[in-house]
Amino acid sequence: MPSHLSHDEIKSFIVRFEERVAPVEKAVSEAWWDLATTGTEEAQEGLVDAGTKYNKLFADREEYALVEGWYEDRPSIGDSLLERQVEVLYKTYASRQGDPEILERMEKLEAEANAAYSNHRGTVNGKEVGENEVREILRTSEDEDLRREAWEGSKTVGAVVEETVRELARLRNQLAHEAGYEDHYHRSLDLQEIDAGELSRIMGKLESATDTPFRALKEDLDEKLKEKFGVEAVMPWHLSDPFFQESPEDGDLDADRYFEGKNLEALTRDTYDALGLDVRGVLANSDLYERGGKDQHAFCMSVGREYPYDVRVLANVRPDAYWANTMLHEFGHAVYDKHINPKLPYLLRSVAHINTTEAIALMMGSLAGDPGWISTFANIPEEEIEADKLAARRRAEKLVFVRWALVMFHFEQALYADPDREDLNTVWWDLVERFQLVKRPPGRDEPDWAAKLHVALAPVYYHNYVLGNLIAAQFRNYLESYITRGPFYKNEAAGRYMLESFFGPGAREGWQDTVLRATGEPLNAEHFVESLR
Ligand SMILES: [Zn+2]
Repeated sequence: MPSHLSHDEIKSFIVRFEERVAPVEKAVSEAWWDLATTGTEEAQEGLVDAGTKYNKLFADREEYALVEGWYEDRPSIGDSLLERQVEVLYKTYASRQGDPEILERMEKLEAEANAAYSNHRGTVNGKEVGENEVREILRTSEDEDLRREAWEGSKTVGAVVEETVRELARLRNQLAHEAGYEDHYHRSLDLQEIDAGELSRIMGKLESATDTPFRALKEDLDEKLKEKFGVEAVMPWHLSDPFFQESPEDGDLDADRYFEGKNLEALTRDTYDALGLDVRGVLANSDLYERGGKDQHAFCMSVGREYPYDVRVLANVRPDAYWANTMLHEFGHAVYDKHINPKLPYLLRSVAHINTTEAIALMMGSLAGDPGWISTFANIPEEEIEADKLAARRRAEKLVFVRWALVMFHFEQALYADPDREDLNTVWWDLVERFQLVKRPPGRDEPDWAAKLHVALAPVYYHNYVLGNLIAAQFRNYLESYITRGPFYKNEAAGRYMLESFFGPGAREGWQDTVLRATGEPLNAEHFVESLR
C-alpha cells in the first residue's frame, strides 16, 4: 500500500467528517420539511441558511484534494468497506465543489423556485386553483373551455420561474466547467455513477421498443378524445394531466371507485403488514392531507441518520387511485430508509442509489392497479374488477411514461448544452411533438418546460425514474420467479428478501452491484420491455 494511503488517516478523517456533517445534514432536512409543510418566507430563509451551512462543510480545498487523492488511489485501499466510503465521500465533496459565491447564489435561487412552485396558483374561472384541482378538471371535466383554462393556468408558473431556471442552469454549468466537465448534464451523471453512453443506449432502446405501440395507443386515444369532445384535432388540454405524464383514464374503467370512501392510510399499513414491514411509525410522523401553503406534491424524507430513523412522508391524500398509488409509492421509499442497517458506517447508511429506492417505490405503487392486490387489500369482489382493462391500463401507463421521460431526457441535454438559447420553448414543443405525439397549440411560445418542477429543482434526475422502472420490473420478476413463486405482495418472504437484498445493505455497494446481487443479473432492460408486449 502506498504510504500516503493510511487506513488510520482515512478513518479518522471520516470520523471527524461525520461529527461535522451529521447535525448540519439533519438541519437541512428539517428545514426542507418545514418549508414543504408551511410554505412561509421564514421557512424559505431557514432552508437557504441550512443549505449554505451544509455547503460550507465542503469548502476547504485542501481537504478536497486529500479526499480526491484517496479516491484516485482507491483500488490500493484493500478494504472494500473503506473503499466504498471513500467513493461516497469523494462524490459528496465533488458535487459541492465550486466558487462559494456561486453555491450561495444557487441555494437562494433554488429556494425561490421552490417557493414559487409551492405557492403559485393558476387562475381558472377567476378563481385560484391548486394542482389537485387542475388535475381533477383535466381528469373529469367535459367543458372544453374550462379544460383549456385549467391547462393554461397550470403553465403560468413557467413564466414566473423561467429566468430563475435559466440562471440556475448557467450556474450549474459554471461549476461543471470548473471541474473539467462539458456541462452540468455530464457532471451530474458522472457524480450519480451513471455512464452517459450506457444511459443513452438504454433510452434509445426504450425509444425504439415503444415507437410502434405508443403510436397505436395515441392514435386510438385521439380517436376517442375527438369523439368525446367533438373536436377535429386533439390539443394538450384534452389529455388528462398537464404534461401527458400519465395515460388518460379509459372512460369505461373507473379505477377510482375501488378506493371510494377507503382509508388509504389503513390500506397502506395493511399492504406493508403483509410483507412484514411495519409503517405505523412513519404514518404517525407524516403529514398526509391537503392544507393551504403546503407543498402540493408527495415525497418521503429521512431526517438524519440516527437510529431509530426519523422517516416522514408528505402527501395530499384523497381517496382515489392516484393517491393509492402515491401512498404505496412513498411508503416504499419509507420502508427502504427505515430498514437500512444501522451498524453501517455513517456514509453508507443511506439507499444504494436514487434508482434503487425508486424501483422499490414504483414496484409498490403499481400495486394500486393490480387486480390481485385490489381484491385482497381494497376488498373489492373479484368479479367487479376489470382485470383486462387494468392490464391494458398498466401497459398504457408505461408507454406514456417512457415517451414523456424521453422528452425530459432530451430537453435537459439541450438546456445544459446552452441555457441561453432563445428557442427553448420551441425545443420543448418539438420534443413533445416528436415523442409524445402531442400537438403544440398554434402560436404557443411560452416557457412550458419551466412549469415542470424537476427541470428547476431535480435536474438531471428523470432517468432515475426510468432506471427505477427497469429495476422494478427486473426485481419483481425475480421475486415472483424465485422467492415467492406467486404474487409477492401476499408473502412475507418478499418483504424479508427486500430487506436483505436492498434495504439492509444500504449504500454498501453501488447500484449496479446491488441490482446484480438482488436479481442475479446486471441491469437488463428486457424485463421492462417484455412487460410492454
Ligand atoms: Zn419516488
